[in-house]
Amino acid sequence: MRISVFLFLFLIVFNTGCKDDKKSDSKDVSTETSKQKAVVPPISTDSVYSFVEKQLSFGTRVPGTEGHKKMKDWLVEKCKSFGLEVEVQEFKASFLGKKDVPSYNIIASLNPDHEKRVILAAHWDTRLIAEKDPDPAKQNKPIMGADDGGSGVAALLEIMRVMSEKPIDLGVDFIFFDAEDQGEDGGNWCIGSQYWSKNPHQKGYTAEWGILLDLVGAKGATFHKEEISRYFAGKYVDKVWDLAHKMGYEKYFIKQNVGQIHDDHYYVNTIAKIPMIDIIYTTPAGMFGKYHHTHDDDIGIIDKDVLKAVTQVTTATIYKYSDGSL
Ligand SMILES: [Zn+2]
Repeated sequence: MRISVFLFLFLIVFNTGCKDDKKSDSKDVSTETSKQKAVVPPISTDSVYSFVEKQLSFGTRVPGTEGHKKMKDWLVEKCKSFGLEVEVQEFKASFLGKKDVPSYNIIASLNPDHEKRVILAAHWDTRLIAEKDPDPAKQNKPIMGADDGGSGVAALLEIMRVMSEKPIDLGVDFIFFDAEDQGEDGGNWCIGSQYWSKNPHQKGYTAEWGILLDLVGAKGATFHKEEISRYFAGKYVDKVWDLAHKMGYEKYFIKQNVGQIHDDHYYVNTIAKIPMIDIIYTTPAGMFGKYHHTHDDDIGIIDKDVLKAVTQVTTATIYKYSDGSL
């Protein structure tokens, strides 16, 4: 993804279809069927970290490579092992001098028949080049993407694992977008999410809202309120950041606005018209960390405490949304 410095035109008038969930304070349950409060299960820090390590064991995961194929097979099997229904959506991506490379969005559905649905998303590909690496000789080599790709996928898998053990009264679609991170200055980012947003895996598919996780495990990470997220799904941004503060994670979730980041959520918001927020590492100035698109984006950049904070906050968000208490 990249930081957008231009102002984009919104061609649609956004309407959140705002459901006002205000509840009366009345404790009289005889007239309403009050939903039981969901208990938020704890995530395992070791488990989510091991999911990053496992991805790195396949090497770099650039579409069209052996590491990418191995990763796809593992990811599909892993989702199935947690009892989810899995759909693999194939498309062709052309990027960085490569043409029509087979690429795959992977959609894993929990409680597929539930009418009320949310999306948790991340990109699973890793970048073909390291254009920001200080060593020019290494700039044309693919990065490991421990944080850029690996962390978001790991968090989603851990949430999936937890939800497979502690049932939730909600449909959750985990979407792993491919070919997100192969763009250039002129564009061509987020190919998989554009494809899915135009061709959802089910006809007429929709969800109430969603969360995109990208760059969620690096040392020194902070998460600010990003502009596209605020514009299309501001009420959810506020709810997530408020909850993070209640949970004691205010040192990571900073209640401060930053500018636009052109990431997968842009297309889900504008094409699929599903409100989606992006939890993504930015500096207070709205920039990426120094390791971004360099070979420092390897296992050494991962901070278990950061990974835990984002994974636990996202888990709590979804459980609380399921019982109406978010
Ligand atoms: Zn990237």
